[in-house]
Amino acid sequence: MSKNPGLTVLAGPTAVGKGTVSTYIRDNYPEVWLSVSATTRAPRPGEEDGVHYFFKGREEFESLVAEGDFLEWAVVHGQNTYGTLRSTVNQAIADGRSVLLEIDLQGARQVKEALPDANFVFLAPPSWDELVRRLVGRGTESAEEQQRRLETAKLELAAEPEFDHTVVNDDIRRAADELVSLMGLIPHPR
Ligand code: 5GP
Repeated sequence: MSKNPGLTVLAGPTAVGKGTVSTYIRDNYPEVWLSVSATTRAPRPGEEDGVHYFFKGREEFESLVAEGDFLEWAVVHGQNTYGTLRSTVNQAIADGRSVLLEIDLQGARQVKEALPDANFVFLAPPSWDELVRRLVGRGTESAEEQQRRLETAKLELAAEPEFDHTVVNDDIRRAADELVSLMGLIPHPR
């Protein structure tokens, strides 16, 4: 079981499937309070403001940073800025909810500084080859960008020992169920 099941941070290398696992949890585990991050990235088709992200302009994001409103924030893949709003997370913890943050490694390290008792879960690929296959296979990045992300992924994989637990993303449902049990919740029978 986990250190502090009240607040769990899920991180892991690029393309490992953090977003897919957290979408599965949003759709199947309403008992988990999944944090909605703020981002300067433009919405993708089907993404809703306040559901998938709080979409912000750069200036608005910067003023939230200046006000100290973020528990953590980071520039991800050298492109867009993402951050977790402190007030919403604190409120959910105070309400006794099981809180899950799905964030990048830089953000996870900031949360560890601020809240060392939180529960840190690393989502790992079944193998390096599989991670390469997922990154190349989704075909959303140029060859140059893929290469850059693979370099980042190597560094990110090396961070695994900083985490309390590792969940291998060999199957989305299985990985999500294992994560939920690490949060002190009971996985749903299928
Ligand atoms: P995407 O743009 O594909 O939705 O997310 C890109 C990356 O941003 C993912 O690795 C995701 O974990 C990370 N991310 C999403 N929200 C946050 C956040 O609030 N803070 C940090 N540090 N990273 C985030």
